[in-house]
Amino acid sequence: MNKTILHLDLDTFYVSVERLQDSRLNNRPILVGGTSDRGVVAACSYETRGFGVHSGMPMKMAKELCPEAVIIKGNAGNYSKQSDIVTEIIKEQVPLFEKSSIDEFYADLTGMDRFFGAYQYSSELRHKIIKETGLPISFGLSVNKVVSKIATGEAKPNNQRKIDYGHEKPFLAPLSIRKIPMVGDKTYQTLRNLGLRQIKTIQEMPMDVMQRVLGANGEVIWKRANGMDNTPVIPYSERKSISTERTFDKDTIDVIKLRGILIAMTENLAYQLRRGEKLTACISVKIRYSDFNTYSKQLKIPYTSADHILIPQILGLFNTLYNRRLLVRLIGIRFSHLVQGNYQINLFDDTEEALNLYAALDKIRERFGDKSVIRAAGLGAKTIGRMQNPFNGQPPVVLAHRKF
Ligand SMILES: [Mg+2]
Repeated sequence: MNKTILHLDLDTFYVSVERLQDSRLNNRPILVGGTSDRGVVAACSYETRGFGVHSGMPMKMAKELCPEAVIIKGNAGNYSKQSDIVTEIIKEQVPLFEKSSIDEFYADLTGMDRFFGAYQYSSELRHKIIKETGLPISFGLSVNKVVSKIATGEAKPNNQRKIDYGHEKPFLAPLSIRKIPMVGDKTYQTLRNLGLRQIKTIQEMPMDVMQRVLGANGEVIWKRANGMDNTPVIPYSERKSISTERTFDKDTIDVIKLRGILIAMTENLAYQLRRGEKLTACISVKIRYSDFNTYSKQLKIPYTSADHILIPQILGLFNTLYNRRLLVRLIGIRFSHLVQGNYQINLFDDTEEALNLYAALDKIRERFGDKSVIRAAGLGAKTIGRMQNPFNGQPPVVLAHRKF
């Protein structure tokens, strides 16, 4: 049976949220991001695109390219709140949907046609979102996720597009190879150097040529160019989470030690988030006392994966939770409400250096292990993760599965 997959994407999301709050920003070139000279552009309005501005670019350069732009310091809290409102509307209307990022959703509408046109249903959903939130949103509807996502891109701004079954290849043929999800700067250059420009050319090539040039990715790109994709819609669940906890050999009342452990745990989970390109919007801390009574407290927060934001919030939760002068048997933390996304969302206050610092630290962790770089305050937490305090002279833990 053919599937019917809807892709919804809020248009220039951060810019649209700013415009909701101040209508004077409508139709003007807007840059959202870090406002200092060292800041980075997180989002830009359609009006700036003609000037060669794009997200991820240093704010200073964007200002030079588009001097008349209004520059706004982003607010992750507002964006998270608006994202939640849209999510709630979709949740009410669609049984099976995936929240793939803060402003993007997929829904599997397979089987709906018999009762109610999927296109009409999608169209009504889109208009409901626009009416209830004031935010522009576009959608693409087709037989799979890839074609629908590309269709959304073609529909923008603030519009919708349906690709009928069997029309995937002709729809894709005239488009730039750039439009294929997964074709980044590097792959694009490789393909351009081969003289490829339009998706049509890939469609006309045998798959193994693409495989030879790009390896395993070549096969995926060839399939996508031909409108083939089997990726399922992964149901969104707020319970989707990552967590870590630790039970002490000997119950403790050492608050400095407990705080150090929480810092180390947060650093470690935040790194796991970034490695999976995920953001969390809900954190919780759990304490079990020596009498086995267990308490936990959770807090909804703006989407993030940055340690410097998460650590103070985790410690704050711990402070409100830990009010009994009892020995602690276990502590743990959990990050939930996970969505796809990168930590640029938190860089409104920060600089290119902060972004580069996270990238550099994570690269070291990638090579040398989770705990190869840690905050000084977390050094005491030596059994979190896999590494000992590198400065106390103890030998590293020998893991059972490791061969020497
Ligand atoms: Mg978007």
